[in-house]
Amino acid sequence: MGRVFSGIQPSGELHVGNYLGAVQNWVKLQYQHDCLFSVVDLHAITQPSDPTDLAQRTLDMAISLLAAGLDPDRCIVFVQSHVHEHAELNWLLNTVTPLGELERQTQFKDKAQRQESVPAGLLNYPVLQAADVLLYKAALVPVGEDQLQHLELMREIARRWNARYGEGFFPEPQALLSTAKRVLGLDGQAKMSKSLGNTIGLFDTPETIWEKLKPAATDPARVTRKDPGNPDICNIFTIHQGFSPPETQAEVAHKCRTAGWGCLDCKRVLADNMIATLTPLRERATGLRAAPQRVHDALRAGARKARALAHHTIVEAKRRMGLLAEAEA
Ligand code: SF4
Repeated sequence: MGRVFSGIQPSGELHVGNYLGAVQNWVKLQYQHDCLFSVVDLHAITQPSDPTDLAQRTLDMAISLLAAGLDPDRCIVFVQSHVHEHAELNWLLNTVTPLGELERQTQFKDKAQRQESVPAGLLNYPVLQAADVLLYKAALVPVGEDQLQHLELMREIARRWNARYGEGFFPEPQALLSTAKRVLGLDGQAKMSKSLGNTIGLFDTPETIWEKLKPAATDPARVTRKDPGNPDICNIFTIHQGFSPPETQAEVAHKCRTAGWGCLDCKRVLADNMIATLTPLRERATGLRAAPQRVHDALRAGARKARALAHHTIVEAKRRMGLLAEAEA
């Protein structure tokens, strides 16, 4: 049973895209592995970010994760900045990370292109990711295809550190590749993302879910109800695959290909299945929002457990790097 680490940005409440793409899988993983899940606020500040609502967005994400089904009795849920060892190991790993590898990262190049002045934190983002995972000696990292390059760099950093300071100290983490299809936004154009305003919130009311689904993009070849469609290129079908049972998915695909029903009929079935799945989550979120102290307590307990593991790693890593240990009082 390998240890699992994964993180999510504090983007406020979860939407259906990040639920189906990551968090739904995390909920399953907590029953199979020793898991740590973190709201990675230190990563968030590598991009221009509004400090006035970062704390609230972090809390909202924590509420979302707990409401979505992460159980603090089964896994460790915490806020990254509450465990200072992440930043400390980040620095130690920086000393073995080749600059050229960082500059070659596709995500860095994409993001840097859009900024006039590129902060060093953006360049070092993958080193902090390596610290997140190696701090707990996690063996498995759930990732999408777009994160594979960062994972490969993480493995390279572990190899370099081990070669210099102690063979086998940091295990090279493996990817736990997500099988979930990428959910597009309601526009059917780009990834579902709050900044693009094309999301369905995980805690949207039944009425809002239906109002958002009605105009959502489908297979553009279905101009009239009589035109057969192709579910494989329809984002509504992708969302069905996250919320509808297999027999409904088969029915949807058949009725789509044979023009056996209209897109609105298809969306109504989807809305009903989404509402059935998401209603208990929305109710849990409402309960947690009304009692934020419970969330703070859960995060504090999570950080305490994470810190106990992290402390052990950081003390030994520093010793192997030759740093003088603090004398006992
Ligand atoms: S019938 Fe359903 S799957 Fe087919 S194009 Fe319309 S919304 Fe998409």
